[in-house]
Amino acid sequence: MSNCISNCNSCSSTSCAPVESKGGVVNSKGQLENSSTTNACKVCAPLGASLVFKGIRGCIPLVHGSQGCATYIRRYVISHFREPLDIASSNFTEAATVFGGQSNFELSIKNIINQYKPEVIGIATTCLSETIGDDVSMFVKNFRKKNLGMENMPKFVTASTASYQGSHMEGFHTAVKGIVCDLAEKPLETTDKVNIFPGFVSAEDLRQVKQIFEDFELEYIMVPDYSETMDSPTWNEYHKLPPGGVPAEEIGLVSSSTHSVEFGYIINKGHLDPISAAEHLEDRYGVTRHNMGLPIGIKETDKFFEALETISGKDTPDKYKQQRGRLVDSYIDGHKYLFGKKAVVYGEEDFVLSMVSFLEEIGIETIVAGTGGESGMLTSHIRDLGTANSKDILVKQGVDFEQLDQIAHELKPDLFIGNSKGYYIARKLSVPIVRCGFPIHDRIGAQRVMHLGYEGTQQLYDKICNAMMEYKQDNSPVGYKYV
Ligand code: SF4
Repeated sequence: MSNCISNCNSCSSTSCAPVESKGGVVNSKGQLENSSTTNACKVCAPLGASLVFKGIRGCIPLVHGSQGCATYIRRYVISHFREPLDIASSNFTEAATVFGGQSNFELSIKNIINQYKPEVIGIATTCLSETIGDDVSMFVKNFRKKNLGMENMPKFVTASTASYQGSHMEGFHTAVKGIVCDLAEKPLETTDKVNIFPGFVSAEDLRQVKQIFEDFELEYIMVPDYSETMDSPTWNEYHKLPPGGVPAEEIGLVSSSTHSVEFGYIINKGHLDPISAAEHLEDRYGVTRHNMGLPIGIKETDKFFEALETISGKDTPDKYKQQRGRLVDSYIDGHKYLFGKKAVVYGEEDFVLSMVSFLEEIGIETIVAGTGGESGMLTSHIRDLGTANSKDILVKQGVDFEQLDQIAHELKPDLFIGNSKGYYIARKLSVPIVRCGFPIHDRIGAQRVMHLGYEGTQQLYDKICNAMMEYKQDNSPVGYKYV
C-alpha cells in the first residue's frame, strides 16, 4: 500500500512509495524534465522535528504515523551522528489509516510514559497522519482530560510536519516555532538572557556558539541544544534519555529574554508559516531579534560578532580577533590553490546561501547553487549578495541529485561542496568533494564538523584547500612533495 504522497523519494518507509524511474516529460525547448524525484536533495520533515526534540532535556520524539517513517529517520540520523537514538512511533496500520490515529496515539503515549518517564514528548506528524487530517493538538487535550491526575504526566510539544509540504528544514524550524509557542510563558519580568536559534547545525557548532556567548559573558537559552544528546561521551550504562538538552522550564522563559539571535534568512518562510520563532517572540513579547545568515565566512561571522557586541556592550574578546586575523592570513596563503576554481554547492537553503558568500571571499566561483528546498527565496537572496558573480550563478531550487548530475556533467566543476549524497556525482566526474552539512554517511565525525564562526570557517577553508592540493598531487605524474 502506498500512503506517502510526498514523492520525495527520501525514505525507505513501507508507507512511502520510492520513485525508481527517471520518468520525465519533454518541455517546449525539447529538454527532458523529470516529473518525479530521483535521489532527493532533501530529507523528510519529521526528521528535522525529531532532531529539535532531541535538543530538549528529557524529551522523547514520537512520530505519529507509520513505523517505517520512524525507522527511516532513526537510520538517517544515527548514521550521521553515530549516536543511539530512540524515536517512538504510533505505528499506523490500515485501521488507523481509515478510522484515524487517535487510539494508536493514546496507546503510544501511555507506553512512552511507562517506559521512559520523559519530561517532554515531542510529537511530529507525517505525510499519512496529515493527509487523513489527524488533529494532534486535540488528541493531546483529550489525552490530558482522560488521564487527569496521572503520575508523570509530561509536557507535550507538537509540530505539523507533512513531508509533501517541506523538507527536513521546514520540519526543523516548524518544531522550533512549535516548542516556543507551546512552552513560552507570559513574562513576569525581563531577564538579561539571550535566546539563540542556531538552526540545523552540527553538535560541534552548537558547542562553539555556546562558548562564544560565554566568552562575551552572556547568559543564553539555546533552542534546540542537542550538543550533548547527539554527541555524548561513552556510558557505563545505557541511558534511555541521554543527558543534555535545554530544559523545558528554560524554554518557558524565552519570552522574558531581552534579545534573540537567529541564524538564517530563509528559515521556513516560503512555506505555510512565514513567521520564525524569533519574529514571533519579537511581535508578541518585544524580544529584540538579531537576524543574520549562518556565520560561515568572514562577512557573515562579522555580523554575528557585531550583534554580540551590541547586545553585551563589550568588545569582541581578543581570542576571536586573533582567530579572525589568522583566517585572513590563511586566505592569503591558500589563494593560489583556490583562485578561479569552479564549485557546485548544494544542501539546505541557508547553508548554501552562506557558503556562496564564503566561497566568493576565497576566490572560488560558485557555478551551481542547488537545494531541495522550495521556499522560492534562494535565488533572490543569492542575487542580493551583490558579489562579483552572484548574478551568474545557476540557482536550482527543488533540485534532485539526478538533475545535479546532468548539470554538473555539462558545466564541469572543479569541486563539490555539500553532504555525502553528492559523492557519486563527484566520483563520476573525478573531482574532489568537501563533505559538510547534513547528512554525512560515509565519514566519521559528521557531528564534529565545524562550520560556524571564524574557527569553523577556518576548518572549512583548510579542508577545501587540502582537497584541491590532494587532487593536484594525486593526478600528477610527478610525485610532488611540495604543492
Ligand atoms: S513522513 Fe517522511 S518517511 Fe514518512 S512517508 Fe512521508 S516522506 Fe516517507
